[in-house]
Amino acid sequence: MGSDLPRKEASHLIANMSDSPNGPSKEKPYHSTLLVNRLMTEGSDKETRHFELCLKDSGIDYLPGDSLGVHPLNCPEAVSDLLGATGYSGSEEIDLGEETLCLQDALSRHLACTVLSRMQVKKFNEIAQVPKLEDLLKSENKEALADFLWGRELIDLFLEFPQQGLEAADFADLLRPLAPRLYSIASSLSAHPNEVHLTVAIVRYESHGRKRQGVCSSFLANRVEDSVPCYMHANKNFKLPEDPDTPIIMVGPGTGIAPFRAFIEERIATGATGKNWLFFGDRTQAHDYLYGEEWEGYRKDGILSELDLAWSRDQDEKVYVQHKMLERGAELWSWLQEGAVFYVCGDAFRMAKDVDQALREIASREGNLDEEEATKWVRSLQREKRYLKDVY
Ligand SMILES: Cc1cc2nc3c(=O)[nH]c(=O)nc-3n(C[C@H](O)[C@H](O)[C@H](O)COP(=O)(O)OP(=O)(O)OC[C@H]3O[C@@H](n4cnc5c(N)ncnc54)[C@H](O)[C@@H]3O)c2cc1C
Repeated sequence: MGSDLPRKEASHLIANMSDSPNGPSKEKPYHSTLLVNRLMTEGSDKETRHFELCLKDSGIDYLPGDSLGVHPLNCPEAVSDLLGATGYSGSEEIDLGEETLCLQDALSRHLACTVLSRMQVKKFNEIAQVPKLEDLLKSENKEALADFLWGRELIDLFLEFPQQGLEAADFADLLRPLAPRLYSIASSLSAHPNEVHLTVAIVRYESHGRKRQGVCSSFLANRVEDSVPCYMHANKNFKLPEDPDTPIIMVGPGTGIAPFRAFIEERIATGATGKNWLFFGDRTQAHDYLYGEEWEGYRKDGILSELDLAWSRDQDEKVYVQHKMLERGAELWSWLQEGAVFYVCGDAFRMAKDVDQALREIASREGNLDEEEATKWVRSLQREKRYLKDVY
């Protein structure tokens, strides 16, 4: 993973993660049919979709806790806007090592043409020699550069600092390969043979006067024509306990809910008797309760022993999953004393840290531990593989 990437940009990059040893791989993906593309958040200002993909004859096998890698195509408008801003026709020939193809195709299928990294600004400025960029690239201006990069894409460089006479090959050298994105699998194969389900937040935003969209999430939402090239990405560090009697506590706000849908489906399919406790949260109960009917059904049937919901915008003060954990601190502590495994999935930058802090607070309060002892206790949970994270 490039050390030049700003923190906010690096989350989707998946270098160094191993693929399945058998069957389709990152290099040779399976071309899956998209069976279902359903908006789950009608009326919300967030767009989260449920996808179902067919795995028939793919040889792909997965377990709850694994992820699916998806190879997207770039958005045609993003490609044509970039060609417009750079002044290329798109028919210029580009050598990508293994094949030579026209710039338009290379931008559509092989090159990351939206994200912007420090390295790209540096390479761009070796050609453009813009004093403002020179200044931002100085090591003492890291924060200013991160602010500059946030919400900007490659096209913004060419719009703000137009370049004439740059060879198409030199332009293509500024671009990195288009990387696949990972999605936590939201289904159990036992419950849905030959299928894999995903829960995806569609990235759409406006910045510096332009409408933008995330490459892969918008590909899944709007641009799948023939198939979705995908592969399984195993995660052996985020698995259900081997002993089916072990209680589990799952904290998965937003799209962090995905693997827990798979966990519960699997526990039902395998007849696991351990207790299940889910903490879910999002903006509003009316519009953002992902898989709400399923959770309510599981609660009614006793499959979920406990269900705690945190809605950040349903009242004046913001309520998040960590607040619900603290409210239920005594019971949570008691489950953990019984040997429960604690899982967290979703946002790495804020939520996972807040949940970690809440766990420490619960340990201090309920276990009468001082700060250092509480930290040690949380570490021991991690060592025993009873505190597992799938955060991004
Ligand atoms: C192990 C793992 C599991 C994951 N599971 C899931 C999952 O289950 N569901 C899910 O939805 N995602 C999941 N993700 C995240 C997913 O891989 C992608 O990162 C996500 O879908 C965005 O990809 P994209 O191609 O749509 O957006 P990209 O084209 O990669 O664009 C995202 C970038 O846009 C910029 N950006 C976004 N919003 C704004 C804004 N408001 N203002 C300015 N700039 C902005 C940021 O630079 C951000 O990094 C997971 C990631 C990992 C590593």
